Amino acid sequence: MENETKISRRGFLKITGIAGAATVLASGCGRRNDEVTAEVPEGQMTYRNLNGDRISLLGYGCMRWPQKAAAEGQESEIDQETVNALVDYAIEHGINYFDTAPTYLRGFSEDATGIALKRYPRDSYYIATKLSNFGDSSREGSMAMYRQSFIDLQTDYIDYYLLHSIGRSMEDFQKRYIDNGMLDFLIEERKAGRIRHLGWSFHGIQEVFDYVLSMHDRIHWDFVQIQLNYLDWGHATPGNVNAEYLYSELTKRGIPAIIMEPLLGGRLSNVPDRIAARLKEQDPESSVASWAFRFAGSPGNVLTVLSGMTYMEHLQDNIRTYSPLRPLTDEDLDFLEETARQMHEYPTIPCNDCKYCMPCPYGIDIPAILLHYNKCVNEGNLSVSSRDENYREARRAFLIGYDRSVPKLRQASHCIGCGQCVPHCPQSIKIPQELHRIDRYVEKLKQGIL
Ligand code: SF4
Ligand code: SF4
Repeated sequence: MENETKISRRGFLKITGIAGAATVLASGCGRRNDEVTAEVPEGQMTYRNLNGDRISLLGYGCMRWPQKAAAEGQESEIDQETVNALVDYAIEHGINYFDTAPTYLRGFSEDATGIALKRYPRDSYYIATKLSNFGDSSREGSMAMYRQSFIDLQTDYIDYYLLHSIGRSMEDFQKRYIDNGMLDFLIEERKAGRIRHLGWSFHGIQEVFDYVLSMHDRIHWDFVQIQLNYLDWGHATPGNVNAEYLYSELTKRGIPAIIMEPLLGGRLSNVPDRIAARLKEQDPESSVASWAFRFAGSPGNVLTVLSGMTYMEHLQDNIRTYSPLRPLTDEDLDFLEETARQMHEYPTIPCNDCKYCMPCPYGIDIPAILLHYNKCVNEGNLSVSSRDENYREARRAFLIGYDRSVPKLRQASHCIGCGQCVPHCPQSIKIPQELHRIDRYVEKLKQGIL
C-alpha cells in the first residue's frame, strides 16, 4: 500500500521540473475545512506562456456558476449579476483564462460566460470551450454544437478548443470525432484561425489516452487537459489513470498540460478532520485547498489550473495561493506524500458531483447519496461495528443526515440496478454496486445489526 501511495519526491521533482516552474513555458465544491481571510494580493498572479499567450496559472472553470433559487416546479436560473461580479474580481486580480462547455449548467454556462466576458476587450482574456457531442455525435449535431458556442460566447474565435472528455472507449472516440469527420473539420478551423489552439480533455482508460496522444505527430495537439492531484500522483485510483504517467507522457512530447479537478471534486478541500488538522498545523496561514493547488500548479509544464469557483471566498483563496505561486519544496512533498498515504485510509467514493449520471430514470439522486456517504466518512461518522466508540453518535448522524440530504423516494433503496447511469460517469464509479452497498449499510444501521 505504501508503495502505491508514494508521491516519490525525487520523481516528482525530476518529472515536473519544479525548480524551473517560473520560467518553463512560461468545483460549488464545499470547503468545510477552509477559513482563511488574509488579504488578497493584486498584480502578483503567476503566469505561464504558450505561443505568445500569457496565461494566469489560475483558470476559471465555468461549470459551477452561482444560480438563483428556483421557484417551485421551475428550473433554477444562473445568477448573472453574481457571475459578472465574480468575473470582474477575477479579471481585476489577473485571471485571464475561462473554461466552459456547451453541456455545463444544462447548456447555460457558455451564454452566461459570454455575457460576463463581453464587457471586456476580446484580447484581454482567453476562452476555452469544447465539443461535448456525447448525446448526438452526428456530423449535423456536432456542427450545430460547434457553431452555437460562437453565438453563445459572442466571439468569432475560440482560443482553446477541446474534444471533450475523451477516454471512455476507442469506439466512443471513433464515433464522436473520426467517423463524422469532426476532427478533420476542427483541424481546418485551426488553420483558418477560428480555433487558436486545439486539444482534448481526458477522463478514462489509458489505452485511449495513448492512442490519441500517438496522433500528435500528425495532428499536433497544442495542449491536453488532465486531472492531477496529490492523491492520484504515482498510482491509479478508481476512475483515474495515474497522473504521473499522464503528465510525463505529455511533457516528453512537449505538450502543455491544463489541470482540471485539482481538488478532486472537493475531496481535497473537504478532507477528514484529522487530515485538515494536519495540514493546518503544517501551515496555519494557508487553507486546506491551497495544498492541492500548489501541488497542481508547481509542475513547470502546467499551463493553467482550473477551478470551478461558485463563491467569492473560494476565488479569493485561490488567487492568494497563486499570487504568486510558492512552488512545493522537498519538505512539502514529503509532507504531502505522508498526507496522501493517510488519506488513502479513508474509503471515500471518487464522486465529484458532476451530475453527468443524472437524471436517473428511476429518480435516484445518485450524487447526493454518494456525497452524503463521503461526508460521513470524512467526518468519522461511518461505523464499521456497533462496538465502535462513537457508534451511537455516528449512526444517528448518518441516518438523520441521509434523510435530510436525500428525499426518501430518491434514496439508494430504490435503485433497480439497471446500469443506465454507469457509462455516463467519467470517474468510472460502479454506481449501482456502490448504491447497493450503501443501502445495505443503511439497513444494517436502521436495524442496529452492525
Ligand atoms: S442503476 Fe440505479 S441509479 Fe443507475 S440509472 Fe439504474 S436505477 Fe438509476
Ligand atoms: S457518480 Fe459519476 S457521473 Fe455521477 S455525479 Fe458522481 S462522478 Fe459525476
